[in-house]
Amino acid sequence: MSNTIAHPDSGYSGISENSIRHALTVDVEDWPQSSLDHSLPITERAVTNTRSMLELFQEYHVQGTFFVLGLLAEKFPDVVKEIADAGHEIGTHGYSHKPVFEIGPDAFADELIRSKKLLEDISGTEVRGYRAPDFSITEDSLWALDILAEHGMSYDSSIMPVKMRRYGIDGYPRRIHRLPNGLTEVPLSTIPFAGRRWPVAGGGYLRLYPLSVTVHAINRLQSQAQPAIVYLHPYELDATEMREFRPRMPYRTRLSQGLNRRFVAQRLRRLFDDFHFAPLQEVITDHVDSTQSVEFSCVSSS
Ligand SMILES: [Zn+2]
Repeated sequence: MSNTIAHPDSGYSGISENSIRHALTVDVEDWPQSSLDHSLPITERAVTNTRSMLELFQEYHVQGTFFVLGLLAEKFPDVVKEIADAGHEIGTHGYSHKPVFEIGPDAFADELIRSKKLLEDISGTEVRGYRAPDFSITEDSLWALDILAEHGMSYDSSIMPVKMRRYGIDGYPRRIHRLPNGLTEVPLSTIPFAGRRWPVAGGGYLRLYPLSVTVHAINRLQSQAQPAIVYLHPYELDATEMREFRPRMPYRTRLSQGLNRRFVAQRLRRLFDDFHFAPLQEVITDHVDSTQSVEFSCVSSS
């Protein structure tokens, strides 16, 4: 790779042993509806971006898990079918993209049932995995894990095991583990550094950190026999979207949601070259001993 002073990925030197499979996950949604205003309609742009992501994955023969928002599936069922037909796992991202801790248990259960049925009817496959909008299963909404188990889900991947501004739980276990209710929890990836945990390998963290940081983090997880949980959104391949919303958006939001989108595709190509990826359901079978059960307590565990 040719390094330039301006390029955020300067210094990349990722060489990996390719010894374990990491999870490749995509939250399928439309950025304005999910991040600016939940009352906005889902637009065709979300479909175009999802197809771009499918083409990129196809080019590298990688398969992942697509957590699809119910509202998007309802309006654009064809793209859900395309995802499933390409061999990817379909999971649910809820129905409306409203945070779990805001909607409460009854609406959460309704959204789960509605989105699961919708996605199963369209894809013809069983939906077993859930990811909350904005990682909104927090200490205030841990009840959601029991509702997921009650409705036949086999895993959840919604908990950031470090407290961030809007989400996360300090001290939550970092590794994939089985809960007493039978559900498997797949926390988002973090690495300990300088006395705290740092989220790595997904979304804004993948865009904002230089690629060398992400590669180092995945190698570090791999050296501990932990899979990275890479997560993406189709809109992160869309480098021009931010310009259209510029007048309506605070600078901070524009920065966190839009910065470095133009580098996402090439970063993914480097990761696909250097690491093995698989759908989350397959990664779970690589890492969870069916007899293992962990109950969360507030004692820090790394
Ligand atoms: Zn989302």
